[in-house]
Amino acid sequence: MDLKKTIRTVMDFPKKGIGFKDITTLLVNGPALHQAIRDMAEPFRKSNAAKIVSIESRGFIFGMPMAYELGLGFVPVRKPKKLPAATVAETYALEYGTDSIEIHKDAIVPGEKVLLVDDLLATGGTMEAAVRLVKKLGGEPVAAAFLIELDFLKGREKLPGIPVHSLIHYDSEA
Ligand code: AMP
Repeated sequence: MDLKKTIRTVMDFPKKGIGFKDITTLLVNGPALHQAIRDMAEPFRKSNAAKIVSIESRGFIFGMPMAYELGLGFVPVRKPKKLPAATVAETYALEYGTDSIEIHKDAIVPGEKVLLVDDLLATGGTMEAAVRLVKKLGGEPVAAAFLIELDFLKGREKLPGIPVHSLIHYDSEA
């Protein structure tokens, strides 16, 4: 199945000029959802990663079933003040202002190899911050996996040395 055909682009959401990639039209389609998880997991069947680190909230939709499929642990990266135990945080730039993400301090053991997962790679700022979080805890990011990559925003340039796997590519907002 051509998964790209199951994704809806909503123009001018959340603001003018943005072509929002709406994955809910993929999620409601059982065979498409199954194929997306299987295809995202496929390159990592022989990976030496111990855990998947995934970013709230749409990242969880893909990261958790990939972890289950691959028999790996799952580590949530969350928005501030959501995780109950001791955390470390990273702040990253948005178009206007900044945002922060957090991870539990004890979620990764130093030296552990991890696979990072999110739904979509745009400018790369979010995943770059997640990589910094993993490294702060002594973890080693071995790859980053996305359902969608907006190639024209060159987000992978923010992830030097980390192999990037994306199933679906766009070369413009539309
Ligand atoms: P970035 O930090 O610019 O790579 O943005 C990545 C995050 O923002 C991802 O977690 C996406 O869910 C969300 N995002 C950015 N751009 C879009 C878009 N055009 N359509 C849907 N989600 C987006």
